[in-house]
Amino acid sequence: MISFNTFVWFWMAVAVIVFFVLLYIKAPYGRHTTKKWGPVISNKWGWFWMELPALLIFPLLVIFGYPTNKIYSAILVVMWLLHYVNRTLIFPFKIRTTDKVMPLAIVFMAVFFNSINGFINGYWVGFLQPEMGRMPNLHMYFGAFIFIIGMAINKKADAKLIALRKEDVGYTIPQGWLFKYISCPNHLGEIIEWIGFAIAAWSLPAVAFAIWTVCNLAPRAFAHHKWYKEHFKNYPKERKALIPFVI
Ligand code: NDP
Repeated sequence: MISFNTFVWFWMAVAVIVFFVLLYIKAPYGRHTTKKWGPVISNKWGWFWMELPALLIFPLLVIFGYPTNKIYSAILVVMWLLHYVNRTLIFPFKIRTTDKVMPLAIVFMAVFFNSINGFINGYWVGFLQPEMGRMPNLHMYFGAFIFIIGMAINKKADAKLIALRKEDVGYTIPQGWLFKYISCPNHLGEIIEWIGFAIAAWSLPAVAFAIWTVCNLAPRAFAHHKWYKEHFKNYPKERKALIPFVI
């Protein structure tokens, strides 16, 4: 039987492989959606089902576990819920993508990915968490601060993108704010969020989740950026994909 930590290291290695695969194969949902991947589901409900396992698994494992430090655990659960209540219960019903679909295969893959990440993080907090000394300590405050900045960027960017489609008129070039520098501030915000969570949690599974987020979202940001440049001749040349002035 492999140990928990060995599994998490293995899971991180899978993330790195997925990163390279996603550089070549665009995950087919949103603007990259296709019906070539078999049966499809409505975009909104696809999002809901994809994210539901993470919303439930992490808090349930903490509630039914025996966490050694209640304050530490509660702060992490609150951070987790702040993100996943939005992503599961609010975001899917705000997006203006009438008649849009995504492949069921994508939903199953995301359910798997979200279940494992929810499980390793929830199990660590609920069952394996070591004694942490005085809590909450410095990394917790700092990580929570980074998390909140990331979440604010992610939510504001998503809201701006959703608002671009006032009526179902397709895509336009986002302008202003962080869009002046990068095509995907929502992806950058989400990466910052989970790096903040990893600093706050100070655990191997949280680091694994931050790595997974980078490996999923960096290739997606590159694909979005390329898509913009292909579809809009007047797309701002100086704009980068994910990190201002860098890439
Ligand atoms: P997008 O930026 O592609 O889209 C967000 C929403 O805005 C969609 O409803 C999209 O419509 C709409 N939209 C985007 N750009 C435009 C535009 N130029 N004009 C009009 N409407 C637009 O986001 P993603 O689908 O890539 O991701 C959505 C959220 O999920 C993000 O916050 C992301 O960080 C998060 N996410 C997290 C992952 C993780 O591994 N943690 C993985 C993937 C996403 P449409 O759907 O029709 O394109």
